[in-house]
Amino acid sequence: MNQFIRNIFIFFLFFSTNALSSETDFFGEFVQGGIIIGQNKLAEKVFFDNLELELNNEGYFIFGFGRNHKKTSILKIDFSDRTETYNLDISKSEYKIERIDGLPSKMVTPGPDLYEKIKSDRLLIGQALRKKYKSKTFTKKFIWPAEGRISGIFGSQRILNGLKKNPHGGLDIAAPVGTPIKSIAAGKVLMAEKGLYYTGNIVIIGHGYKLKSMYIHMEDINVAEGDLVKQGQIIGTIGMTGRVTGPHLHMNVYWNRIKINPELLLEDKK
Ligand SMILES: [Zn+2]
Repeated sequence: MNQFIRNIFIFFLFFSTNALSSETDFFGEFVQGGIIIGQNKLAEKVFFDNLELELNNEGYFIFGFGRNHKKTSILKIDFSDRTETYNLDISKSEYKIERIDGLPSKMVTPGPDLYEKIKSDRLLIGQALRKKYKSKTFTKKFIWPAEGRISGIFGSQRILNGLKKNPHGGLDIAAPVGTPIKSIAAGKVLMAEKGLYYTGNIVIIGHGYKLKSMYIHMEDINVAEGDLVKQGQIIGTIGMTGRVTGPHLHMNVYWNRIKINPELLLEDKK
């Protein structure tokens, strides 16, 4: 092969592999409450509904849809020479209606003496959820935080002692007090506090890419704010602190401070 043809051949190979890897892969369900891991090796910037996403060096990014996310969203990817736009269709989720009776009335409608405590608890949680944490690693596979029976699912409309309350924002796993709780991914502990009124003992972990996990009603807490944790590290144990009817872990997953369906993050994305 003469030099010129060989160069053209190499150029063609280079060009065609580039063209192939410029395709975007998506893992996850485009459904209300869903969370999507995307990858495009050539992406320079990625925007989800105009919000710029964090992009790791292999081109991975993450975005999600809240409980009542609108029908469509737009994902825009900037390349060195062009921009691609994806119109995403997000399907509707059906949610259960869940009635829980027999809760102590002070838990459902707390008296004015508790307003200050509840307000300061909420403030602490809000501060932790607003903390920014950049991770050097990108998690593609998340693990279940505990073994047990799923006793509450994402999105259910809750009616407590006959009163309509906020929808259930997380996943409940019922297991005996003392059952270990693991971090679903590597990250940094953004909050580790005991004695909150509703949530009881609580841990919030930042995983980077605007993703955070929250674990509540815990018994023991084994980590402190600022700690770096590994995926699967035991951060504490299941308890029945805060507003509960029995021992269980309630876990929330937030993407960009929006609650997404933890089960859709934890299941195998293949
Ligand atoms: Zn719950």
